[in-house]
Amino acid sequence: MKKLEDFADDINKCSKCGLCQSVCPVYKITGNDCAVSRGKFVMLDGVLKGDLKLNKNIEKYLDMCLKCGKCKDFCPSNIDVCEIFNTAKYECAKNTFHGKVEKFLESKWVFGGFIKFIKKFPLIRPSDTFSRHRGEGYVKLLYFKGCVNNVYPKTERALKKIFSHLNVEIIERDFDCCGLPFLSSGNMERFEEVKKYNLELINNCHFDYILTDCASCESTLKGYKNHSPGTTSHPLQQGARVKILNAAEFLVGQNIKFKFKFKKPVKVTFHKPCHLENDDFLKPLLEKCENVEYIEMKDYDECCGFAGEFAIKNPKISRAISKQKALNAVATGADYILTTCPACVMGLYQGFLAAGKKTPKIMNIIEFLSIAEILDLQSNAPAKPAVKD
Ligand code: SF4
Ligand code: SF4
Repeated sequence: MKKLEDFADDINKCSKCGLCQSVCPVYKITGNDCAVSRGKFVMLDGVLKGDLKLNKNIEKYLDMCLKCGKCKDFCPSNIDVCEIFNTAKYECAKNTFHGKVEKFLESKWVFGGFIKFIKKFPLIRPSDTFSRHRGEGYVKLLYFKGCVNNVYPKTERALKKIFSHLNVEIIERDFDCCGLPFLSSGNMERFEEVKKYNLELINNCHFDYILTDCASCESTLKGYKNHSPGTTSHPLQQGARVKILNAAEFLVGQNIKFKFKFKKPVKVTFHKPCHLENDDFLKPLLEKCENVEYIEMKDYDECCGFAGEFAIKNPKISRAISKQKALNAVATGADYILTTCPACVMGLYQGFLAAGKKTPKIMNIIEFLSIAEILDLQSNAPAKPAVKD
């Protein structure tokens, strides 16, 4: 487990240029320098020098961060803020009463037990896993479906409906949470626990790609190799190339031979989750849709303001950021707001509630595609699902 002092060089790399202020969504709302990386680095530098203590006040500001990574993208010193803040948060909270309560709530007995229970009684029925014709180009996909799909498998159902037209096998394993909530709250022990468990399952499976439909799960799985190297021998940690793709990216890469026809013309806009590495799939995928007009919203790649624990600990700031996002979406006149992360769906709903505006349909892009009629590209006839194994 890394310690704050391991990041002393990175913290010192901050030149105090203040560029992070121009992009930080929390700074834009609060105007408080302690809310942005620069201010936090000043405090953490003071801690490392022994001038300050990691106390409640510093913890409050560490919690005042969406972990959106926007400041890292703009930082001339390229400092990985999230890892530093998570480690500082871990050191702040580990011996406090509230830190112990949080750990208990996130433990495998409470949080893990809840997920185990809900997997047995999801709010809607998940669809069956399938394997399709094993012809040329047959692809094995290890599906990491994420906690939200365990509770409410709407995106999972949509994904399986669309993927039934592909020459693929979807392999499922009893994965734990990807660990992002634990990482963000500084609960490093719990994060290491779920990471180890998930890596064992991945290690014991033969597949071509790991498939997700959640940008947060995708980025956390990709980040497994960056945390505590050496705790397992899996290639994800050794830095070998294990391809982790989101469902939309995979569809575009497959050069699909079908299209999505919507009955009536609809306008859509897209919110890019902070954890989504790139959205290159968006336009090619929408080009496969008939009767769909795409309108880009202002700051479409800026955080929705939700960020899990952030929304609970900073409700006013969270609502203010979400509200601005909703207003940007309203300005497009879109009927649908598409995204690729269930937490962002919640953030967008929060924004519309805060803005008092009529809420358009908000959903994962995969769910949106599943509403359409799936037609063969050449014949225009309904596309037939691939032959079952
Ligand atoms: S942009 Fe980077 S170097 Fe500049 S103040 Fe922010 S954290 Fe420091
Ligand atoms: S990660 Fe996002 S919210 Fe946190 S300091 Fe950087 S820009 Fe601000």
